[in-house]
Parts: sequence; C-alpha cells; structure tokens
Amino acid sequence: MSLNWVKEIEGVNLFESVDLAKYTTIKLKAIGDIATVESIDALTLVIQGLQKHGIEYHVLGWGANQVISKTKNTLFIKLKLPLDRDIFKTVHKFYDLPASTPLNLLQSHAQKFGLKGWEVLTGIPASLGGAIYMNAGTALGEICNIVESVTILEPTGKVRVEKINENSFSYRKNHFVSEGEIIIEARLLHHGEDPKISQKIKEYMSYRKSTQPLASFNCGCVWKNYDANHKAGLVIDKLKLNLLKINDLEVSDKHCNFLENKGSATFEDFNALIGLTKEELLLHTGIKFELEAKIY
Ligand SMILES: Cc1cc2nc3c(=O)[nH]c(=O)nc-3n(C[C@H](O)[C@H](O)[C@H](O)COP(=O)(O)OP(=O)(O)OC[C@H]3O[C@@H](n4cnc5c(N)ncnc54)[C@H](O)[C@@H]3O)c2cc1C
Repeated sequence: MSLNWVKEIEGVNLFESVDLAKYTTIKLKAIGDIATVESIDALTLVIQGLQKHGIEYHVLGWGANQVISKTKNTLFIKLKLPLDRDIFKTVHKFYDLPASTPLNLLQSHAQKFGLKGWEVLTGIPASLGGAIYMNAGTALGEICNIVESVTILEPTGKVRVEKINENSFSYRKNHFVSEGEIIIEARLLHHGEDPKISQKIKEYMSYRKSTQPLASFNCGCVWKNYDANHKAGLVIDKLKLNLLKINDLEVSDKHCNFLENKGSATFEDFNALIGLTKEELLLHTGIKFELEAKIY
C-alpha cells in the first residue's frame, strides 16, 4: 500500500515498516505502519484518505489492552493531540481533555487536589480515549462515573458529541463508539474535593503494586471476570492453569489474569495460550470466558 500522500499532511508523522511492539505494553513483535497525528484536522484528512485508498485503520491508545495480530493493509494511528497542562494547576468544574491525555496525569491531579470520583483511575495505564473506549476501572469504580460527554470523529469527517447516560457503558465496554469512529475529546467531571481521596489513591496504588505486575510486559487482564464468584484470575489459579506457558509467554506470578512476555513472545504464542486456557476453562467450569484484551 502506498502511504506517500500521508507524509504530505501537516501534523502527521509516518513510520513505515517499524516494529509496533513499542506501541503496546505487551510488546509482541509486529512489523507495520503507524502514523502519529497531532490535530483533528490532520486526523480527518488521514482517515478520509485511507478510506479513499481502501486502507484500513486502527487506533492505538497507550496500547495497554491491545494485541496486534495483523498489520497488512492497515495504518495504525496514534493520537498526539495538544494538551494545555496548565489546566492541571488548579481545580476546575469540568475538564475538556484530548483523547491522548495520559491517565497518569489525571491521577496525579486527582491526588494533588483530592478530586472525588477520580480515584477510579488509580494505576490504570491508558490514554483517556482508550480508558473511555474500554470503560476502564478498578475495585474503586469505573471511568464512566466521571465522564459527562465524549466527542467522536466519524469516518465521514463529521464530529459528534455523545452525552453520557446510564446506558452508555457496561463492564469494560462502551455502547456508543462504532466501527471506524475515533474518540477525540472528553469532558470529565468530579464530585468535589476531599483530602481523603489523596490518601485513598496513594494506598490503592501501593496495593496495586503488590498485586499486579505493573513493571512487566503484559496487556492487563486478558479475560473479563464472569461474575463476582468467577473472577478469571482466581479460576485460572484454582485450576492451576497458571502453570501453562508457551515459549516466552507465561502467566504472571502476581496475578493469574495477566500474561507476561518474558522477551520474544509472539502473537502466535499468545493465540495458542489463550486458546488452550479458554478450552480448559470451559471444560472445568462450563463457562465461556470472554476476552478483555482487544486483538486487532
Ligand atoms: C499493568 C496493567 C494494568 C492494568 N490494569 C487495569 C485495571 O486495573 N483496570 C482496567 O480497566 N484496565 C487495566 N489495564 C488495561 C488497560 O490499561 C485499559 O484497558 C485501558 O483502558 C487501555 O487504554 P489504552 O489507551 O491503552 O487503549 P488501547 O489498549 O490502546 O486500546 C484499547 C481499545 O480502545 C480502542 N481505542 C483506544 N483509543 C481510542 C480512541 N481514541 N478512539 C477510539 N477507540 C480507541 C482501541 O482501538 C482498542 O480497541 C491494565 C493494563 C496493564 C498493562
């Protein structure tokens, strides 16, 4: 596929035939093409051009819940939209933030000012767009509780503002971003200030460090929990499926729902290990566990 025309667009940097491993946290090798995009105008031109040329596209946020299986005829897109960091100097009633905002900045802001509601973001590696797409959350709650609206770029180039309501999200899922649509901005709210929140974030962060492999190469939870009595990690542990390993890919010692790439694991290793685990889970529990990690 020819991407020469992409290079002509201002605010876009194109990297062809590069290892996309560095754009995902599990770091499985995948040679492909990626463009970083610095403005909505540039993004609009890129997706319109891709459609005209019959090339697929796929957005990578922080790459913290993604596994890349195919790279042919696809341009990966990474948003690098301008963020005015002055917004984090004081507390505001609401925050209009670009989708590429890293969640750790929001966590720091919440910790500094004790923003109620924002503790749900604690320790989640993500871009704001990816966290909203996934309705990311922890035992402290989900991001849907602090999102007021989401701005979306449609494949036609039209921009739509989605007002969030009680039907907009469910467990690790949004119900409003369709195929080809890209989250470009979101408005976040908080529920006031409370110094106890700062302490809560600090304590939950230490708890996470002791219970999750935050420093290894992984893609977060691989499986969705089925229900409160069938949490994927606990079932995997109980059935001793954590002993399964394929080449450099193995189950984390810290958390059985995480797969760690110890060096040179591939997508084939990932696919084989999740296939085996899924079969065993079904055989022993009768439950079809659903993947939380997104495979593209
Ligand atoms: C160590 C570790 C710990 C984790 N802990 C948690 C946790 O506690 N809770 C939790 O919920 N998750 C957790 N995760 C998973 C991950 O952090 C979340 O799923 C997060 O929301 C992914 O955000 P991202 O920006 O990395 O999105 P990506 O993984 O890059 O993308 C996820 C999906 O969102 C889509 N997407 C991303 N950006 C956009 C956009 N702008 N517009 C449209 N679609 C988009 C992608 O195409 C993909 O389908 C963890 C991951 C790791 C590695």
